[in-house]
Amino acid sequence: MQVPFLDLPQQTENLRAELQEAMEPVLKRCDFVGGEAVQQFEKAFAEFCGVKYAVGVSNGTDAIYLALRAMGIGPGDEVITVPNTFIGTTAPISRTGARIRFVDVNPLTLNIDVQNIEKAITPNTRAIVPVHLYGQPADMQSILQTAREHDLLILEDAAQAHGARYRQKTVGGFGRMACFSFYPGKNLGAFGDAGAVVTNDEALAEKVRILRDAGRISKYEHIEEGYNHRLDTLQAAVLTVKLRHLSEWNRRRRDIAARYHAHFEGHEAIRPVAEPDGFEGVYHLYVVQVPQRERVRRHLADAGIQTGIHYPIPLHLQPAYRYLGYQPGDFPVAEEAAKNVLSLPIFPEMTDEMVDYVAEKLIRAVG
Ligand SMILES: *Cc1c(COP(=O)(O)O)cnc(C)c1O
Repeated sequence: MQVPFLDLPQQTENLRAELQEAMEPVLKRCDFVGGEAVQQFEKAFAEFCGVKYAVGVSNGTDAIYLALRAMGIGPGDEVITVPNTFIGTTAPISRTGARIRFVDVNPLTLNIDVQNIEKAITPNTRAIVPVHLYGQPADMQSILQTAREHDLLILEDAAQAHGARYRQKTVGGFGRMACFSFYPGKNLGAFGDAGAVVTNDEALAEKVRILRDAGRISKYEHIEEGYNHRLDTLQAAVLTVKLRHLSEWNRRRRDIAARYHAHFEGHEAIRPVAEPDGFEGVYHLYVVQVPQRERVRRHLADAGIQTGIHYPIPLHLQPAYRYLGYQPGDFPVAEEAAKNVLSLPIFPEMTDEMVDYVAEKLIRAVG
């Protein structure tokens, strides 16, 4: 059996007729930038997230940048986040001129550990960027409480967590703002790069709309320089179609995760990332920690199973962040996770037979 890590060709084939129907009006009108489909998608996505406003942008990284800028983050400020994430979380922080402050994660959830946040707060701290890593919500109640006590802004990085819920509430509605990526492999993926910023704050939404589009308030009036960080109309049309299927896809991902969990119960060497009570992840990734990962990974590859590693080098040890002055040992939980994490195939089109096959091969490989 061959088990890919994800199967976008299959997903695209299943939706071909719907996608073509949605793209046709854009081809007719040629309103490729700022077209009707953009507003349609923004409205639908805001509704999906349970927030008032969604602003479509060029990708998830730019979404984070625009959100930070809209909130007024800049030089002299510090922003707290985690080292076990994609650099798309952190590069925008530096791009504003602010400084990144990493804190370690919880060993069971691998999401931000609120106990470490307190210690990292300085008089310059302005914001926390919790990442809903792997599609599992961060522990928002305690993060919100800490943010309130210290008067800090929260920007959720929900790039992997479209539709995840924490105590019955959808992520994206907890922070002052939240950011999503629609990179093709995400739970909701475009036909290229795309992203969104969501918020309940009308003024912040408007700021992002201005910043994404050349700082314009009308066609020829620029109140600041701004950027070209818009969402393409064709991508919005594609995303509107796929959004209709997202809840069903997320349910299927959760079923697959439950099936994996059942297989791994009682196998102590295989430690799936925990999903505490009240947390409802959408399993963008199904991640386990295993001993001798490289050997295990080779075994699976020999059995036709593709796997991934998210992420092999924590950000504080990346060459790009040498200037921040962190050392090995600064964030032991994230560093340990980087050595042990293994992402197994998970995608809505995956069959139960595939799940069983992967689980059996992994159990055998770990021994
Ligand atoms: C994908 C991702 C991003 C960046 O999104 P892009 O659309 O690739 O720019 C940011 N943060 C996390 C956690 C991501 O997974």
